[in-house]
Amino acid sequence: MVIISDDKGEVLGFNIYAGGGLGRTHNKEETFARIADPIGYVPKDDIYNLVKAIVSTQRDYGDRTNRRHARMKYLINDWGVAKFTAKVEEYYGKTIEPLKELPAFKYIDFLGWHEQGDGKVFLGISVVNGRIKDEGDFKLRTALREIVQTYQIPMRVTPHQNVLIYDIEPADKAAIDSILIENGVEPDPLKIDNLVRYSMACPALPTCGLAVTESERVAPSVNERFRALLTKLDLPDEQFVIRMTGCPNGCARPYMAEVGFVGSFPESYQVWLAGCPAQTRLAQVYTDRMHIDDLETFFTPMFEYFKRDRKPGEGFGDFCYRVGLDSLREVCKH
Ligand code: SF4
Repeated sequence: MVIISDDKGEVLGFNIYAGGGLGRTHNKEETFARIADPIGYVPKDDIYNLVKAIVSTQRDYGDRTNRRHARMKYLINDWGVAKFTAKVEEYYGKTIEPLKELPAFKYIDFLGWHEQGDGKVFLGISVVNGRIKDEGDFKLRTALREIVQTYQIPMRVTPHQNVLIYDIEPADKAAIDSILIENGVEPDPLKIDNLVRYSMACPALPTCGLAVTESERVAPSVNERFRALLTKLDLPDEQFVIRMTGCPNGCARPYMAEVGFVGSFPESYQVWLAGCPAQTRLAQVYTDRMHIDDLETFFTPMFEYFKRDRKPGEGFGDFCYRVGLDSLREVCKH
């Protein structure tokens, strides 16, 4: 659902999409990650009725016998979006309008300081893999507690595993920066390695009972190894979106990443490539099993190919998508 507003920010209606979902199961090809299809635009007064019509369609025609096939994405995939939309319109009782035109999607994480439009400011703070903790000299939990208690300001968590603190008086910015820095937390996103800034990992071991592999606990070392490898290959400032999960449920959205790791066997991961920085394109499976110890030998020929044949300004995910995974396999010999 994308909000469509007027020049003053008043909500006019919504562009509606349906049929997306990232959960899947290894070795069950009938389960797959899928991007949502556009359904259409709905004025704000009709949003309840349209959502009710979509849910009713799923209720009446979704698969009630096979749990693995029960999600709306499978119904839309089986029917096609045109048939699905026509059925939704029957429940809705009206024709659904075409989507409103949108600017290109961008992946914006809102880290750092920003005006919020009412004279106050907000601060986006990077939280590595979403874990708010105190560990050694890094005391994010302490810093957030002190800021909230001192300034009585609210906080939001984001789908990128970060925290936004908001409703801040501009005069308090410097003091809040100081609290963060004193507690070892970097408030300036430009000082955070972009591999770290844009990566995410799910909790996996030991928290999640479904995990096959580590994720959150090894992701920082994976980012460090990627940075070291890129530097060694004379690509020191390269950045791309890395996502890691401990099982195919995909809680950190690895199937949209430029480099996605999905736990498949102990210490080994499926590798997904060819997503894009804006997170609007599904990645593709490159291999079902890469042992984590082999990360450097696995990616070195890929990055060498990328360095040699990329177009000016082309990112790694777009490069993989353009040349295709078969070409990558041929060149990299794996
Ligand atoms: S992706 Fe799997 S291992 Fe990770 S949190 Fe989700 S269910 Fe657990």
